[in-house]
Amino acid sequence: MKMVEIEVVGLKCDNPTCGHVIKDIPENQYESYVGRPCPSCGEMILSQQEFDEYERMKRAGRKANTILNVLKWTSASTYLDLLRGRKV
Ligand SMILES: [Zn+2]
Repeated sequence: MKMVEIEVVGLKCDNPTCGHVIKDIPENQYESYVGRPCPSCGEMILSQQEFDEYERMKRAGRKANTILNVLKWTSASTYLDLLRGRKV
């Protein structure tokens, strides 16, 4: 079963004529890049809106992984019962 993975390897400058990439940013440090200027062209490298979108994607991916992990050891109908709060 294919897992849902959100892989982020770095930040890329939005400026099409720049394209500067900051690599190897630890996942928990992305927030600190919000509003920072690109070291190459000075444009904002990560807007608050982009960061929110990234967080949203990350949460969605995590949720999907949880469901897939549960389905590995139980059947779909059992999982639905669990979701409904029924004891199985
Ligand atoms: Zn740039």
